[in-house]
Amino acid sequence: MSTPDVVIVGGGIGGLSTAFALSRLGVRVRVLEQAEQFGEVGAGIQLAPNCTRILDDYGLLDEAKARGVVPDRMVMRDAVDGSELTALDLRDLEREYGFPYLVIHRSDLHSLFLEACRDAGVGLRTEQRVVSYTQGGGKASATTHTGTIHEANIVIAADGLHSVARELFVDDQPVSSAYVAYRGTVPIAEADHPVDLSEVVVYVGPRCHFVHYGLRGGDLLNQVAVFESPKARAGLDDWGTPDELDTAFSATCDFVQQRLPHMWRDKWWRMYDRDPIGTWVDGRIALLGDAAHPPLQYMAQGAIMAIEDGWVLAEHVQRLRGTNGAVDWTGALAAYEAVRPEHCRRVVLTARVWGELWHLGGIRREQRNALLRAREIGDYSFTDWVYGPTALFPEDEPAMFAPIPLSSADRVGVGSAGTVAP
Ligand SMILES: Cc1cc2nc3c(=O)[nH]c(=O)nc-3n(C[C@H](O)[C@H](O)[C@H](O)COP(=O)(O)OP(=O)(O)OC[C@H]3O[C@@H](n4cnc5c(N)ncnc54)[C@H](O)[C@@H]3O)c2cc1C
Repeated sequence: MSTPDVVIVGGGIGGLSTAFALSRLGVRVRVLEQAEQFGEVGAGIQLAPNCTRILDDYGLLDEAKARGVVPDRMVMRDAVDGSELTALDLRDLEREYGFPYLVIHRSDLHSLFLEACRDAGVGLRTEQRVVSYTQGGGKASATTHTGTIHEANIVIAADGLHSVARELFVDDQPVSSAYVAYRGTVPIAEADHPVDLSEVVVYVGPRCHFVHYGLRGGDLLNQVAVFESPKARAGLDDWGTPDELDTAFSATCDFVQQRLPHMWRDKWWRMYDRDPIGTWVDGRIALLGDAAHPPLQYMAQGAIMAIEDGWVLAEHVQRLRGTNGAVDWTGALAAYEAVRPEHCRRVVLTARVWGELWHLGGIRREQRNALLRAREIGDYSFTDWVYGPTALFPEDEPAMFAPIPLSSADRVGVGSAGTVAP
């Protein structure tokens, strides 16, 4: 490929899925990845119907299902006493939204897009750390650390949480939540206590939560343990150590405590997001994925939003392509920017509040539990705004749900007024 139509910086799930979305339209795409190899961390990821709908459109859903697990239920439990608080019937949810809820190993999803990109003729370049961006004359370019300039009609920066390109748009920093994640993906044969792999389960507790689900057709158990690190909260450097993990979960139920020794205890991740921004496009340069809208993980929508970004952009490129094949790139980027920032703003801000709700203690934990227990299993009013079809135009963006104040738990029999709403 001599001169591509589009250069994408970053070969994560956002960059590769966007590269595939564009290349399957016949657009010539080059991906620049800083690492020596394309790859992802070896842990799981959840894909809700607003993502599997897009995978189906790409012709990749059957393969994704074959590599992952389609669970029957998603269950929320109290981490202290282990009791069930609420659930989603994922088979019914599939009927409701037309597409399944899927859980898959990150590297399996990443390699699915990588293989699709290879088959579609995407130019895939590693060891290309982009350090600067320029534009002019209806072109944009990305320059690597070695000084190589990659020019195209547009440059998409999908370079993640610590995006270099984001500095073109805003002078901000990742926001630390002081929460830390331990992961642990283990063969199910080594689980040594029975775990029901037909369920995605989250145990929510005071300043901590624990998630587990199956991967690779049930061969692997994916586990995530997240807690507020006192040392991170205090601004110390040695945050998140295993002693903090064990202390944070010391008041949780037996099941959760039994899982802790099976986490990877030599590596942990600090949880960050960024405040939403409404401008993602500057001339011929655009942000995408975590570079534009890194969320806290509580809604399990970060990678999905990145995949949606690429799908929306490609739909507008298709719509604004003339019969001679020429694309109105400015128009496509404008249409992308008209619809995506507002949706992602809602997800990023809702994820913060949803996480606060998970981590409540004391009376507010009891209020939350009472409200969750009162929820009807077939009530999808809290998921319609996110699991429905991805909007292409602002007027298609669904209305959000009406939050339920914690204080309304009084009506179902608990405590006094609280302030946090889901
Ligand atoms: C614990 C946890 C659980 C999560 N669970 C879910 C979930 O269940 N569902 C979900 O949808 N999301 C989930 N997420 C969020 C999801 O992982 C991210 O939102 C998603 O991976 C972002 O993809 P991305 O491609 O935008 O960025 P990244 O994955 O960060 O990829 C960026 C890529 O750009 C490269 N790069 C960076 N800088 C440069 C540069 N200067 N030049 C060239 N290349 C560069 C990087 O090497 C990397 O390959 C979770 C996150 C966490 C932390």
